[in-house]
Amino acid sequence: MTDPGFTGEQQEYLKGFMAGVEARRGTLLPGGGEGGAPPDALRAAQDATIARGGKLVPQEDAKRAKHPLDRWDELTARAQANTFPKPIDDFIGRYHGLFFVGPAQDAFMCRLRIPGGILSAHQLDGIAEIARDCAGAYADITTRANLQLREIPAAKGIEVVARLAELGIIPKGTGADNIRNITASPTAGIDAQELIDTRPLVRALHHHILNTRDLFGLPRKFNISVAGGGAVEVLEETNDIALRAVRTPDGLRYRLTLGGITGHRDFARPTGVVVKPEDAVRVCDAILRVFIAEGDRTDRKTARLKYVLDRLGVDRFIALVEQRLGIALERIEDAALDHAPPPAKHGHMGIHAQKQDGLNYVGIVTPVGRLAFAQLQGIAALARRFGSGTIRLTVWQNLIVSDVPDSAVAEACAAIAALGLGWQASKLRGGLVACTGNAGCKFAASNTKRHAAELADFLDARITVDAPINIHLTGCHHSCAQHYVADIGLLGAKVERGDDLVEGYDLHVGGGAGPEQKIGRMILPKVAADVLGPTVLAVLSAWMRDRAPGETFQAF
Ligand code: SF4
Repeated sequence: MTDPGFTGEQQEYLKGFMAGVEARRGTLLPGGGEGGAPPDALRAAQDATIARGGKLVPQEDAKRAKHPLDRWDELTARAQANTFPKPIDDFIGRYHGLFFVGPAQDAFMCRLRIPGGILSAHQLDGIAEIARDCAGAYADITTRANLQLREIPAAKGIEVVARLAELGIIPKGTGADNIRNITASPTAGIDAQELIDTRPLVRALHHHILNTRDLFGLPRKFNISVAGGGAVEVLEETNDIALRAVRTPDGLRYRLTLGGITGHRDFARPTGVVVKPEDAVRVCDAILRVFIAEGDRTDRKTARLKYVLDRLGVDRFIALVEQRLGIALERIEDAALDHAPPPAKHGHMGIHAQKQDGLNYVGIVTPVGRLAFAQLQGIAALARRFGSGTIRLTVWQNLIVSDVPDSAVAEACAAIAALGLGWQASKLRGGLVACTGNAGCKFAASNTKRHAAELADFLDARITVDAPINIHLTGCHHSCAQHYVADIGLLGAKVERGDDLVEGYDLHVGGGAGPEQKIGRMILPKVAADVLGPTVLAVLSAWMRDRAPGETFQAF
């Protein structure tokens, strides 16, 4: 790079400048991206795996070939050709929130991203319209306080994602090896017993994730939950990162536990660490980066955070987090922490006074999470008319409408009933949770949503229990409905009947979360779906008859 117009001094300067560029290029290229791009966390972790002699799984190869976030054009091309993706391309589509769910349905499912489960009536109206125009005219509330749209034709997938973005809902990373919707106390900011309003942290974390490309290169999916100490259970200890608000001698903090994955029979384990709310994004980011560097990219079955913790131990893992942060994290013994009162079991239903004088939140019961177009629009309308236009989804597959004045509660409840929904339910139906099941998921052994509804009808007609009971039906070992933390947990299974295989469940009892934390145990394998009602009725009847006073399912 010489120019006859430059002075000798200028030419020397330029020579030095170019030498510096070359030198920097030399340090950036090894292990870096193609075309001289600087190395990102994903590429560095993959290179380290390969250097150790590890063979990357096909999903890692796909990520390595081209970052899935840069493959939107492939999705649009397929939409124009009206075709669904092949398996590994489907993995790429999941980075953008689109899941091909064949053969269960010849359609896409779109999983949204609703931080903390809180959305506006305007957004719910928009979602209803998208469901009507581009999907099956209904939405499912998930166990991550999120929504899913189903029955989306091949040509409509892109339109769904684009229209959601126009509503401020970005479903990036809701599938594949990414951070899922952040769950949090649904009554944040309105709950008289909460210690910390989780909304600012959840919002900051949500945007940090969406805008940090390195965080779309995880070895496997990742769950984060933030409990503020409110009256509604959020099941934070079932998450990879679980933050729970606590009072310490030095002020309010989040207690950090890690590695929850109840499908693998593990709750998040204590770390001894507490985090100031204002530091929580930075700490979560460092935890995620240690996971990116240390997670297993050679075996999908052992790629979750739990297995990194099993291998390194919690103390070593936290030391690596501190190394990344360049500071020592604050540690306080559990005995010195003061917790909010435990959440109320089934506190997600019914009418409750808010911490704001004269205002109430109303929990609306849904039929295992499914809401038709008219109900979605109706809820948006009643949230606007009787409340502040705020809707709060819960991990219990129901929703809450907040900020309803005392004077409007009765009318709001009547409007809920007019939509064919309830604001109260029996002690068996209030904790009824079901995953998608085989009507929409290829992994399912059974039709969980249908069987859940039938089971609740059968039991409600025959028994009245005197304490809230959680019944969770999950279609396969992925355990989206978390059968291991239910009083009665049902895991889909095929049951032999003569020469046929019929739908059924392995029956577990005694699981729980929060103050009842326990992994359920199987007491009866392979119960056919058509005898599920009488079988669960017998279990409940035995518990009612034989338990000691006040004895829960966990102790029974
Ligand atoms: Fe599908 Fe299994 Fe999840 Fe149910 S638990 S939705 S069957 S992956």
